[in-house]
Amino acid sequence: MTDRYAVFGNPVAHSRSPLIHAAFARQTAQDLSYEAVLAPLDGFAGAIRDFVAAGGKGANVTVPFKEEAFRLASRHSPRALAAKAVNTLRFDADGAFGDNTDGTGLVADIRRNLGFRISGTRILLLGAGGAARGGILPLLAQGPACLVIANRTVEKARALREEFAGAVATSQTSTPVPAAALVATSFSALAGREFDLVINATSAGLAGAHLDLPPGLFAPDGLAYDMAYGRGALAFLEFARTHRASRLADGLGMLVEQAAEAFCVWRGVRPETASVLTMLRGEQ
Ligand code: NDP
Repeated sequence: MTDRYAVFGNPVAHSRSPLIHAAFARQTAQDLSYEAVLAPLDGFAGAIRDFVAAGGKGANVTVPFKEEAFRLASRHSPRALAAKAVNTLRFDADGAFGDNTDGTGLVADIRRNLGFRISGTRILLLGAGGAARGGILPLLAQGPACLVIANRTVEKARALREEFAGAVATSQTSTPVPAAALVATSFSALAGREFDLVINATSAGLAGAHLDLPPGLFAPDGLAYDMAYGRGALAFLEFARTHRASRLADGLGMLVEQAAEAFCVWRGVRPETASVLTMLRGEQ
């Protein structure tokens, strides 16, 4: 019998996940279907319940339900516990297992697809919402020289710093994050500082808003990366281009990589991502 999967969000019509997972399923010869489900803003848990009752095996979760999905899961992966948000649910006899593949997808895109070595670099992470939170430990696990979190509401950046300083960056090395490597600040206090990797994890671009950033942030050979893609990434990447960032990337690769990781959580098979990313770029 064909196994059912779906992405739950509101809105969700724009989601590329059905296309991506259909391509993964074809490529790996897995018998599954994948649909987009518009869950009511006050009805996420009910929508998931109905899906499971109808035989649903797993789900992706997108805006604005990732925190609710975290609460709904009865078991969590370490990376979901660190992110306090779930973008991947797997349903089995023991209930709902919650995982978060966003941060792993981000690092996979930067390292593998873009060929950028994170180790030893100075990273600026803009934003302190769910996507930023999920990226912190996977980025730190790569051993950067420093990770500066800057947010419009600086208290939220400080809270993230408090939470992650001293945390264990990776289960492989079990090395605690040195407190000095993690810094929280405001946008204006970034003046005069330079970074090798600047990641926009704010949602400003989705609303067409510009970030109030000082000039001179991008080091020569630096990479400017926006987690958003399509029109949502335009404002930040244009800012980066005019401020002499030498490399620009949007978050489409992250989307494909986090999906591949979710597919692996569900099916135990890792799909190849390059051809799927090429297909999506062709449609942009
Ligand atoms: P959240 O709503 O959790 O966080 C939003 C963040 O953006 C906050 O830090 C907020 O700051 C900041 N922000 C919003 N508007 C502005 C503004 N006008 N000026 C400055 N800062 C602003 O969103 P998420 O963390 O879930 O998502 C962030 C981005 O990452 C989105 O673009 C999303 O599409 C993208 N994303 C991409 C993925 C991918 O696979 N490519 C996966 C997940 C997310 P404040 O705290 O001050 O409000």
